[in-house]
Parts: sequence; C-alpha cells; structure tokens
Amino acid sequence: MAGKFSRERPPADPAPDWTSLDYRPMEFEEEVRRFWEENRIREKLEELRAKDNVGLAGFVEGPPTLNGVPHVGHSRGRTMKDLYYRWLSMKGYYMPFWAGWDCQGLPVELEAEKALGIKGGKRQLLEQVGAERFVEECKRTLAKYYPEWLKHDRLLGVFMDHSPEKTYWTYKDEYIEREWAYVRAAWEKGLLTEGYYVVAYCPYCQTSLSHAEVGLGYEVVKDPSVYFKLRLRDRPGEFLLIWTTMPFTIITDLMVAVHPEAEYARVRVGDEIWIIASERVEPVMAELGVERYELVEVVPGSALEGLRYEYPFYDLVPKQAEFERQNALVHTVVCEEFVDVSVATGIVHLAPGNGEEDFEAAMRRGIPIFSPYDDECKFTDEAGRFSGIFARDADELVIEELEKRGLLVKAGEVEHEYPTCWRSHHKLIWVARREYFYRVDKLRELAIKAAEGVEYFYPGPKQRFLSFVSEARPWCISRERIWGTPLPIWVCRACGHKELVASKEELLKKAVKLPEGHFELHRPWIDRVVLKCPKCGGEMRREPFVLDCWHNSGAAPYARFTDEDFERFVPVYFLTEGIDQTRGWAYSLLMAHLVLTGRPESPYRAFLFYGIVLDEEGRKMAKSLGNVILMNELLSQHSADLFRFYVLWKCAPVDAMSFDLREMYKRPYQVLSTLYHLHRFFYQNATYDGFDPVKHTLKWAEREGLLKAPERWVLSKLQALVAEVDEHYARCRFHKALQALEDFIIEVVSHWYVPMVRRELWTDDPRTLGRRLAIYATLWHTLKTLVLLINPATPFLAEWLYQHVYRPLDPRLPESVNFERFPRPEPGLRDEELERAFEHLISAVTLSYSARQRAGLKRRWPLKEAVIVAERDVLDALRPFSRLLVELMNVKAVRFSEPGQEPEGPDWSEASEMAMSVLVFTARDRELVGEGLMRDVARRIQALRRDMGFKPTEILDEVHVAGLSDEDMRLLRPFINELKELVRAREVFLHEGEPELEGLMWREYEIDKRRLKIAIRHGV
Ligand SMILES: [Zn+2]
Ligand SMILES: [Zn+2]
Repeated sequence: MAGKFSRERPPADPAPDWTSLDYRPMEFEEEVRRFWEENRIREKLEELRAKDNVGLAGFVEGPPTLNGVPHVGHSRGRTMKDLYYRWLSMKGYYMPFWAGWDCQGLPVELEAEKALGIKGGKRQLLEQVGAERFVEECKRTLAKYYPEWLKHDRLLGVFMDHSPEKTYWTYKDEYIEREWAYVRAAWEKGLLTEGYYVVAYCPYCQTSLSHAEVGLGYEVVKDPSVYFKLRLRDRPGEFLLIWTTMPFTIITDLMVAVHPEAEYARVRVGDEIWIIASERVEPVMAELGVERYELVEVVPGSALEGLRYEYPFYDLVPKQAEFERQNALVHTVVCEEFVDVSVATGIVHLAPGNGEEDFEAAMRRGIPIFSPYDDECKFTDEAGRFSGIFARDADELVIEELEKRGLLVKAGEVEHEYPTCWRSHHKLIWVARREYFYRVDKLRELAIKAAEGVEYFYPGPKQRFLSFVSEARPWCISRERIWGTPLPIWVCRACGHKELVASKEELLKKAVKLPEGHFELHRPWIDRVVLKCPKCGGEMRREPFVLDCWHNSGAAPYARFTDEDFERFVPVYFLTEGIDQTRGWAYSLLMAHLVLTGRPESPYRAFLFYGIVLDEEGRKMAKSLGNVILMNELLSQHSADLFRFYVLWKCAPVDAMSFDLREMYKRPYQVLSTLYHLHRFFYQNATYDGFDPVKHTLKWAEREGLLKAPERWVLSKLQALVAEVDEHYARCRFHKALQALEDFIIEVVSHWYVPMVRRELWTDDPRTLGRRLAIYATLWHTLKTLVLLINPATPFLAEWLYQHVYRPLDPRLPESVNFERFPRPEPGLRDEELERAFEHLISAVTLSYSARQRAGLKRRWPLKEAVIVAERDVLDALRPFSRLLVELMNVKAVRFSEPGQEPEGPDWSEASEMAMSVLVFTARDRELVGEGLMRDVARRIQALRRDMGFKPTEILDEVHVAGLSDEDMRLLRPFINELKELVRAREVFLHEGEPELEGLMWREYEIDKRRLKIAIRHGV
C-alpha cells in the first residue's frame, strides 16, 4: 500500500510558515490590527454598509467620561457593544458606530481639581485658581485621558469610528448649541421652571444633584442618633418624644408631624408625660433604658393636631420667634400621612429647609421656608448663634444645647446607609435652594408609555427602570458649577424679565457687551455677555448655573447628529451601558427626548444593562482594595480575543461577573486554541491534497456521492448551531451563544468528527482522494461557518484565520471577514434522524471507553470485540454505522445484542447507562498486544516530531527506537510498516538495548515500565 510517507511529493501549495506555529494570539492580534489599519477595513465596512444594507440600525455612543483610564468594567461593556455592532453589520445593517466623549461636569471637574491640588472645594478653587485657568485644566484632563481610550479601543478591537468628523465631544460649542435645543423646547412648552425647592446638595462640590444622581452613591456612614423632647406649651410637664440622625435640622425646625390615624400613647415617665406612637413604646423604652413607665392614655394622632410646642432655641435663633408671629401653625403638631409609626418614635419634626416632605408640608400650609445656608452649607446670620458653622458640624453643638436645657433624652451613634456624593463621597445634605427644573412630573404618562415600549432583554433591569421612570419627579437641571453647558437664560437686573438665548449667533446679535478676546460657550466668558432688557432697557445678566452633566450626555441623540441624521437614526436600534445607568444615562436620554419631541417614544428601541465586574473573590473593585484592573495594562499582556470571549461567555450580561485571570486561561483558552488547531490541521492536509474550495464544494461532493454519515451529521448539527447563535446574539444571550460555540468546537468537531475521519485523511492513496476532498469540503464549510459565527465575539482570531486559511485558498473571497454576511441555516442540510442515531453512537463509544477504563485498557490498544446491548430500535439505528463504531471503539469487531443475550464471563468488562450497555472483551493475544505497543510507540514519535517542529506532512528520513527487549522486538516487527505510515517516516529502525549512533539526539520515554529511547534523523 502506498502511504504518504512512501513518496516524495511537494505539497500542492508550499505551506506558508504559519502552520509550524502554535497558537500565539498576542502576535496574531497585532498583525490583524495592522492589517485593519493599513487596509482601512473599518472604513471600508462602513462605506460598504452605507451603500448596500438591509436597513438602518441607529446608534449613539454612550460617551465614556474622559476623567480616568478604562478599567475592566468599561471593557466588558465595550465588548458587548462591539459584538452587537459586528453582528448587525454582518446581518447587513448599517449602523453609525461613531465615537463620542463625555467631557463636562463634576467627574471632570474633580479630576482637574486633583491635578491643581485643590482640596478645599469650590471656594478655594475660585479664589486660588480662577475659572479661566480651571477650564483650561479641565480641557487638559480630557487631553490626558483621550489617548488612553483610543489605545484601549484599538487593543480591544472596538470597531468604532474615531475620526474627528464622526466623533462628538460634549463640550464643543456646536454640541452645546444643539443641547440648548432641549432647553428651548422645555422653555417654550412651559416645562422649565425656576423656584425654591429642596435638593440634594454636596457641600464639597457646592452643587445640587438630581434624584438620579442621589441614587448613584449610597454608602454606610456613621451619624448621631439622638432622642430629644419638645415641651408642650399648654400641658405642663408633657413632651413630644422625637428621634433624629441630623440634629442640625432642629435649627431649622418649624413643625412636628404625626400620622392622623395611628395611635399615640401618653406615657408617664417619672413625673413627666411623654407622647410616642403606641406600637413604639416598648422598643423605644427598652432602647432608652427606661424600666419604669406607665401608660396613661391612648389617643389617635388626629387628637394631637394643633398642639403647640416650645421651640428649644429661641435664645440662639431669634428668627424662629418671628416665624411664629408670621404663621400660627409654626411650632405646632400637624397631621401627615407620610409619617411612619413603625420606626423610631412615630413622631417626626419637620425642617422645611432640609427635607423634601417637610418642604411640601410647609408649602401646603403656607409656612415660610427657613433655609439659612450659604453655598458651602454653612449657616448664615439668620441662624443666629450657629452662624458660620457648617451644617453637619452643628450637630454636636445642638446636642450640647439640648442637654443644657434638659431636653436631651439619649445621644448615641448609628451606622446606616446614607446617600453620598457619587463623585466626592461627601455626605449629601438636603437644602432648599433656588434652582431650575424640568417638570418631567408633567410627562409621567408619556414617560411610562415610552419606557414600556423599549426592549430590555432581561426582566430585572426593566422593572427597576420602569419603577424609577414612574416616579417622574421634577428634574433639577441646574448646577452651581463651572465646567458645564451654561444655562442659556438671561435675567434683567431692573425688572426681572427673563430671556432664553440658545444660540451663539443670536447672542452675538443681541449682546450689548461681549467678552474681550476669546469667547466660547463656557463660563467665565459667557457670564460676561450682557443683553439689553426688551421690557425696560435694563441690563440682563446670565443666570449663573450650568446644566446637569446628565443633561449634557442625555442630549446626545439630537446634539451629536445633524437634523437629517437625527431623523434617520433616532430612535436608535440598540444601546448597552452599565446597570448603574438605569438612573443615569438611560433615564436622562429618555426624559430629555420627551422634553424635546413630546412624542410618546423613547430615543432607543432596545437597551441592555450589563452587570458590574467583581474581582476573583467576588469583591467590588476599588482603589482602596487595590484590585482594580486597568485594561491597557491587561491587554498589553493578554489576548484581547481571550478577554472578550471570557467576559461574554462566563455569565449573562446582566449578571455581576467575577473576573479571574486563571479561569480565563482554562476553558476559554481551550476553545480558541482548539479552533486554531482545527484550522491548522485542515489547512495542512487540504493544501497537501490540492483541495480547491471553488471546485470541491459540498454540492460537488454530494453529486459525486462522497459524503458519508459523519459529514452529514456534522453539517446537520451545524445548521442548528447557526440558528441558535443568531438567536442568542439577537436576544443578548451572549453567554449562551458562546457556550453553544464552545460545545460545537470542542465536542462536535474536535472530539467526534475529526477522529471519525482522521484515518481517512492520513493516507495519500490516489484512489481515495475524492473522499478526502469531500472531507475537506465539509471542514471548509463547517470551520468557515464557525469563524463567521464567532467573529463578533473574537474578531482577531476570526480575521487571522480568514486571512491565513480562507483567502489563500479562495482568492474570490472579500477582503475581510467583516465584509461577509452572517450565516443562515440551510434546512436542506438538517437531518434530525441522523442526529438521533449519532447520539446513540456517541453514547456507545463513550460507554466502551468507560468499560476499558474499568479493565485498565488504554484507548490506543486495539481489542478483539465490543458488544452493544440495547433495545431493538436503538440497535437498528446503530447497525448502519458498525464500521464507524469499530474505528472509534478501536476494536476488531462490534456485535449488537438485545438485553438478556449479552455475553458473560471474566473476560468481559461492562459499562452502562439508562438505555444501553457496552461490553468489551479484555483478553488480548500476542497480535493485539503487539499492535497496542506499536500504537504507544507511534504516539511518542508523533509527539517528538511535533516538539522538533516538523510539519505533519513532512516525511522523515529515519526514526530510531532503542531500549527494546527481545520480546518487544518480536511483538513490534509485524507492525513495522504500519508504524512507518503512522509516524510518516521512510525508515523505522528498532534497536535492542542501546546502540551507539553518532549525531542522534535521544529522547527517553516510559511505556508500561519500559524505558525507551527515540531519535529522529532527517535532512542530513
Ligand atoms: Zn461632591
Ligand atoms: Zn427689564
């Protein structure tokens, strides 16, 4: 028989060097990056789809903030974003995958403050640095981090257009002018209002925050826990018992509230009467350590309404007596439904200057708002003795004063969750301030309708988002900061008339005074623009606010496009951002869009919220823990494809993901490496045999009758896979898509199909060439489909294989894998009956391996016989594949037997599962032992030739095997020709003992307690 080893024959196409390479993703990826750049692949893809598409899929980049370097959480999201883009492009959609950067607002300001060494907040900043220099530093911050992000996207393979023409920057004048369109719309529709309102305020950043922002930063903090009494005026010796964690609010106290329907108890403690919610008497007394007390009476809350109490600090805060004179309800008990009687004492004191509900309760009663704070949250002169003290620093003093007056019952500490500033982590304070609001409460129905029409892919984030949207509280859009989009409203100093001027051109036209020299749409320059009042001719100055940075990024759909592109691309097709963006960008996008358009539609059709990334122990990543993963460092040492595959594959996008580098190198590495090695195996063999994909198509193989069951099976399984992966991508089950690919690559192709055909490929008998070409046609089709399916997830490996395997063999293929269309299932190739039969076949073979293992028989050792025991229908399904079974089980014969007729005896080893068992005959004669030994030796030689870097197609001159016993020689000799064929060598020499052969490098191996030496001599 003529083997491949026996003839000298040059390969059909001299194999390029890569086939001797192992899987080296880092090198491949850099090669692919350069290929994409030098050949403008990304640009060409965009041009191609712009011309030729099945539809538009709008997109607007969720702009990363340029205040730091990308970390692993960013990359998880950008991987998903890029996957979706590449998949949609392959489906034939045109998507404007254009970059955008978030440039303004607190995050950038704080980074700039850090660079300037400012630790004292806004006042220090303005006094020591000044606004102009500060703005310059903010821009410097952007310039510092921008290259890091470009580098990141290049390394990770994010196929986004970063060209200056397509990129948007939220601080540019042209963007700001279009952002102003939202403010104008709100102004014209009466949705923009100004007034006092209680807002969350960060004393460090000296700015108010929106509700959405408050939700971004809860932390566990320590606060005072204070029980105190308020003396009732007309009932001597009787007190209201109250609990607070913010004693400073007693300075601004104006009322006390009880629940009208709840029961309140009058309790005698010593010679005093305390009033407290009935259900709280026991726990509170226990907490206060009051053992002896007596219940005097129980009354409904409504019975307490109107009781007057003595404000504790008339002497310290003289203003409080003034309020009492202004409004008779000041310092009385009022009834409010919001009072919760299941906590604390069931009685709350109200400080309308410091609480939202308190504020509303005051507004309903016409009670004045007492908010004696400056911009740093220090008390003003109106707070009397407390003037000049920072609000939270007044806590201690207030406790002291209560004690002096005999009103303190107990002062302790409490640890609780409390909102902090999402940027500076300072405790927030609620204070009444003059602000501008979008009245999105008026758009509530519209907002719910719009939000309900969005696809969220997973129920959890959907519920969270919808419930937040349905709160629809007025959106405080004004910020008392510097680096942001200025509020374009000018107010007349004389008559108070207001004007909105929302374009630069209009400003230049109307201004009576402009900044000298440089003029951009930022503070401080824009503050120098003075207009003339059309009503009275007075001087109009700009309201000194900037806009919420979430307004800035939420305006992107209109601000980043032209009018024409806004109509084409919005509502956008698909967005994905971190789960924290339910209250961030997703919310502001929606509300801003409703304000602008008034249409009951969201600016996005679908929004995937992805989970956070934790460290390998499941802890949050934080600078303080030292476990933050910076991506540019990671990607300079590890494969981007591997990272991408890992984060997509490990869990559902919505889940929090524990990132573990060791895990990344287990299964994910195995999958990608296997895909690579399958291609190498295919390419080496196919080129050797002169496979031509243009000629040797599946249709050709079918016509020639060259496709056998293994090919039909693998092609059938492939059709199911194509449908499954497509569906999972569409529904953002990226993990399921990749797990399906994993199973197909490792199990279906590598573990099953290749072993089924390996033997047929090993020969170069011209009589079986057609059959080999049919196998190549099958592998070509299957592997290429896999490459196309996996391309959105691991674009580097896909492109690399496309350039090194597919295009060299078929030059008619497009220039890049990205120009290909996503595969579609071909129903004609599906054969479910065959798939079921192969399930039985795989079970039988797997059972035969277990049976061998039980008897200590290696898979490489041929055995005499195997018996499959199963019901008749299973056996009938298997019978046509007996030759395949013989091959895969490595036995000389397979028998089929119905239950009850299986052989028995000590020479049989059995393994079974539910519907089937397999027995193997364990006794081996000399011939079987000899063949088994030959296979063991062959495997060592194959490993050695791989280690020495020989290509599988290369035919070695000489192989030497030494250290054999006399008996081994006798066992092996009959199989010498088969051994030559298996190891692809012209000669194999067997040596008894140790020969002295010059110039040979011996390698030692152990086979079943024998010490063998093997050497290869080639090309000398
Ligand atoms: Zn802050
Ligand atoms: Zn005026």
